[in-house]
Parts: sequence; C-alpha cells; structure tokens
Amino acid sequence: MNTIHIKDKSFTTFITEEKILKEVTRVAAEINRDLKGSEPLFLSVLNGSFMFTADLMKNIDIPCDISFVKLASYCGDSSTGKVKELVGLNEDITGRTVVIVEDIIDTGITMQRLIKTLKARNPKEIRIATLLVKPDKLQVELDIDYVAMNIPNDFIVGYGLDYDGKGRNYRDIYTIVNK
Ligand code: 5GP
Ligand code: MG
Repeated sequence: MNTIHIKDKSFTTFITEEKILKEVTRVAAEINRDLKGSEPLFLSVLNGSFMFTADLMKNIDIPCDISFVKLASYCGDSSTGKVKELVGLNEDITGRTVVIVEDIIDTGITMQRLIKTLKARNPKEIRIATLLVKPDKLQVELDIDYVAMNIPNDFIVGYGLDYDGKGRNYRDIYTIVNK
C-alpha cells in the first residue's frame, strides 16, 4: 500500500497498474471481436482518459481511427452536472461506428449529453468504452458496452484521473482516505 498526498487530501493504492492493464486488455479483445470490419472511430474524451486510451489502443488490432475531444463537467471533487461544449471533433462521423473512450462514468450525465450531441451528427452506431463505472451513482439510462472495472462511490485519482488538476500521472489508481 502506498499513500499519496494531493493538496488537502490523502489517497491510498486501490487498483494496481497490473490489474488495470489486465482489464483494459480484456476490453480491447472484446472490441476487436465485436467491431471487426466496421472500421470504428475511437473518440477519446480528454483529459481523464489519456492513459486508458493509450493502453486500450495498443491492444486494438482492427483498422480504426482515433480522435480526441474535450469537455469538462468536474470542478474539485464533486460532480456539478454542468457540461461544457464538445470541442475538437473535426471528423465527419456520418454513417460511422463511434466508440467513446471515457475515464469514468459517475452519474452518467456527461455521457448522456455527449451521446445526444454525437447522435445529431448521424453516426451509424455509438458505443461506450469506459475504464470505470460507479454503478451506485448512475442516474440515467445508459447502455455501457465495455467496462474495464466497476468501483464504489469513493473519489479516486491516478491513471489519468485528477484531483483539482493533480494526480493524473500515477500508474495505479488511488482512493481517497478520510473522506
Ligand atoms: P458524470 O457526469 O458521469 O457524473 O461525471 C463524469 C466525470 O466526472 C468523469 O469524466 C470525471 O471527469 C469525473 N469524475 C467522476 N468521478 C470521479 C472520481 O472519482 N475521480 C475523478 N478524478 N473524477 C471523477
Ligand atoms: Mg471523463
């Protein structure tokens, strides 16, 4: 167990890099199997999903495109429910299979709005691949196609995820102590 300190909070090792990579590899295999022949466009939602995207894509072996978009709904450590504009999508997604690559689904509101925005651009199909889900916090109906890991409600950092901008660089995932 390793403890890290970010600003006023402490976090302890929760999911090791080894476990993360095992589950990410499994998700990649599922996508390779399901989307063979559809030449999907992977849409990585920055910033949080940058490590997940890299490790996922290293294990995708079907022809595909990757693009990066940005939208933020988080400030500090509680979901505000507010979602900013989608920026950075320059590809024409008409008639395409789009796989959203997200770090974590909490209430699901961010994902629901993103899907609504993308659907207006007439893709053939939208799939969701997420590193993490907090099933007990889901507030909306979502069809989540690929999940690396389900986790409890506690706030986590590392492997791309931040607390107030910090902590994204850690290889493991850490959970908050003394909430
Ligand atoms: P949702 O709209 O599903 O409630 O929020 C999703 C977004 O909230 C994620 O993309 C992520 O940015 C942020 N988020 C939710 N839970 C956590 C968490 O435990 N840790 C961090 N660092 N971000 C989280
Ligand atoms: Mg995110």
